[in-house]
Amino acid sequence: MTAKTYAIRTFGCQMNEHDSERIAGLLEADGLVPALDADAADVVVLNTCCIRENADNKLYGTLGHLKTAKEQRPGLEIIVSGCLAQNDREELQRRAGHVDVILGTHNVHRAVELLHESRETGPVLEIWDEALEEAESFPSALAVRREIDYSAWVSIQIGCDNTCTYCIVPAVRGRELSRPFGELVAEVQRLAADGVHEITLLGQNVNSYGRDLTLSRREVGVVYDDVLIAGSLWAADDSRRIRPLFADLLTAVSAVEGIERVRFTSPHPKDLRPETIVAMAENDAVCNHLHLPLQSGSDSILTAMHRGYTAERYLEKLAAARAGIEDLAVSTDIIVGFPGETEDDFERTLAVAAEAEFDLAYTFIFSPRDGTVAATYSDRFVDSEVVSARFKRLHTVTERSALAKHRARIGRIEEVVVEGVSRRNDQMLSSRTRQNKLLHFASGTALRPGTRASVLVTDAGAHYLAGELVEVLAAPRHRTRIPVSAG
Ligand code: SAM
Ligand code: SF4
Repeated sequence: MTAKTYAIRTFGCQMNEHDSERIAGLLEADGLVPALDADAADVVVLNTCCIRENADNKLYGTLGHLKTAKEQRPGLEIIVSGCLAQNDREELQRRAGHVDVILGTHNVHRAVELLHESRETGPVLEIWDEALEEAESFPSALAVRREIDYSAWVSIQIGCDNTCTYCIVPAVRGRELSRPFGELVAEVQRLAADGVHEITLLGQNVNSYGRDLTLSRREVGVVYDDVLIAGSLWAADDSRRIRPLFADLLTAVSAVEGIERVRFTSPHPKDLRPETIVAMAENDAVCNHLHLPLQSGSDSILTAMHRGYTAERYLEKLAAARAGIEDLAVSTDIIVGFPGETEDDFERTLAVAAEAEFDLAYTFIFSPRDGTVAATYSDRFVDSEVVSARFKRLHTVTERSALAKHRARIGRIEEVVVEGVSRRNDQMLSSRTRQNKLLHFASGTALRPGTRASVLVTDAGAHYLAGELVEVLAAPRHRTRIPVSAG
């Protein structure tokens, strides 16, 4: 009997990518194999996002195609998961009767059980309004089918307790819950033993990681498993202060043998603390890259967004990070056209972006999300033509600084990790520098993904570097996965 096949289409951020890896792991544990041709898969998973507009149009368009496919192949099973499913459950159920399983952000671990259930009972919808405080709520705590063998995401917290007025995340991902310290360190040790040498710690507000853990230990007032829950540094500290543990975590995971690169996303500027900067500077494994979302350079817009910092405070934090961490690259997120944004507000954003000299900026047009406070400010929505023109002006500023930052690398030797053959030129390899920049280089020999090498930078654009191999530093340690035929 040939194995059933699956295909997953992921929309949205790294959290969703990571959830998709979990769903893939669960499906494979149930005997399915990845489809070589996604259009012929027996099970199709659409893992959705609702951060910005159009996600719903795209989803319903894709579901329309799948409806036709299911008419031709009645055995086709469809799962819709993720943020849009969490947020839009009734609408989804009403418009997509051919979907077999709808599940939300808090019950990813139930994907296979629900699929089995739907075979018995017909379409199933299961959305949990809250995450349960148990290991299964964390995507990293489940079986996983990693897309990349040498690199892994580690989810350190779920949800978000902030109240940014434009953002739907707290509504769809729930309140902030940190994963126990000892479990995370153990997971990183397991990954390292498996040949992973790069990890990315994931959370919506990583700087506040652990505050809830220390609060719970303080309240309970017992000590026997403090080390497991809050780490040895906190447990040894007699003050038992309620505090975030992110800097402790960076230190602990960097010390795991075999881990050479530690990345994380996203830190909220208001919570970026001196000890995190020290931990980034002092632990060699932590990469010299900081993603610090600015959102706006105008204080009145930042207040309306509920961000908890001013432009000046942001620039001070940035300066402290740059002063403390050698050769730091900085990326950011900026929203254009938040309700009420005037020309003056926007010019302040341009000025802060120019002063901050970002290496990379993800720029977004404000998108009203039903259920957020800012979506109710319709009397202050900015005209779409004005927004488009501002978006282009901001792009010019951020591209200029990105190009300058990249050009400044020409002549340097960068330590890279090979990602694979370049998509644009099969004579070149693509790799990542420690600053998270894409570096294409000619090597003359094939190097496996995960190989570490040093490369001389000879050219640069706003979004890439190019160079020549100097030497191979280390071969990857992970086992190469042998593709499983779907046939
Ligand atoms: N938790 C992260 C933080 O605070 O930086 C970011 C989460 S969100 C997935 C990523 C980015 O999407 C945000 O930094 C913001 O710039 C953008 N974003 C979120 N909601 C948006 C909206 N309604 N319209 C436009 N951009 C939005
Ligand atoms: Fe959304 Fe703000 Fe939380 Fe980030 S910190 S997820 S932008 S509410």
